[in-house]
Amino acid sequence: MTARVHTLAQAFRAVFGRKAKKIPLDAGSSCPNRDGALSRGGCLFCNAAGSGTGLHLKGFGLRAQWDKLTAPARRRGEALLAYLQSFSNTYGPPERLAALLDELIALPDIEGICLGTRPDCLDIEKIALLAAAPIGHTRLEMGLQSANDATLIRINRGHTAADFARATVMAADAGLAVTAHLMAGLPGEGVEEFLATVRFVAALPVAGVKLHNTLVVAGSGLAALHAAGGYQPMAREEYVEAVCRAIALLPPHVAVERQNADPAPGELIAPAWAADKQGILKDIAARLERDDIRQGDDFHAPR
Ligand code: SF4
Repeated sequence: MTARVHTLAQAFRAVFGRKAKKIPLDAGSSCPNRDGALSRGGCLFCNAAGSGTGLHLKGFGLRAQWDKLTAPARRRGEALLAYLQSFSNTYGPPERLAALLDELIALPDIEGICLGTRPDCLDIEKIALLAAAPIGHTRLEMGLQSANDATLIRINRGHTAADFARATVMAADAGLAVTAHLMAGLPGEGVEEFLATVRFVAALPVAGVKLHNTLVVAGSGLAALHAAGGYQPMAREEYVEAVCRAIALLPPHVAVERQNADPAPGELIAPAWAADKQGILKDIAARLERDDIRQGDDFHAPR
């Protein structure tokens, strides 16, 4: 936590009264934008290998992964949260989600759940299952990326901004925390379009945001577009400016859980500056300091 930005660590301390650790687990989930239900190509920026540990494919169940990965955080006395990031973890029939939740709440000493998903993989029945799970804290990490429907079509998201708003309100009404994934520098978008997305999310009942620079990663549709000269990533300075202005637009209570993307080893094609994750964070902190920007400075509550 810096005084200028409300972080996830600070939000977790308020919930659990101490540090908390998200333990990355792989439930072998799928995605309707990959399995053919919506498309087989996936989102334009998506690496077909997903962003997870791959432990499910190697035959490790959730309990085995949990036992393997929780020891250091246990020693430090941290609150333990199961973190299912890859693909869309609420996809499929409600029975699948119910079985997944049963497995998760049986993990020893679990105090919270974070599930990555898509707005079109949530409905009232699944929200009710999530809200009824006997667990201290449930967080849904939901991809929006852009609030501009033309961009969502361009990047083959397969849902609209209104779908995201509907799912967010439904989840928040049920007492679930929602974290929105947003991307700066998507094809056809610059800083102003990204800030329009931030304003859209700031007016919704979200508990957190993850701000990402768009990466061209190996195996994605964007990599082909980039190779053909059809896409140029944002410049580093532009991204730093975009994040600082986004922070000013967000309500002070919303946790800024990420300020830049974290490319997996070997996957980054462009921009080269995205590999300097710590350097970018320093640039953002320095810019906030230089311009005396604090989270919420430009936030106006919706009427
Ligand atoms: S980014 Fe997420 S929603 Fe899009 S194709 Fe990849 S796994 Fe599916």
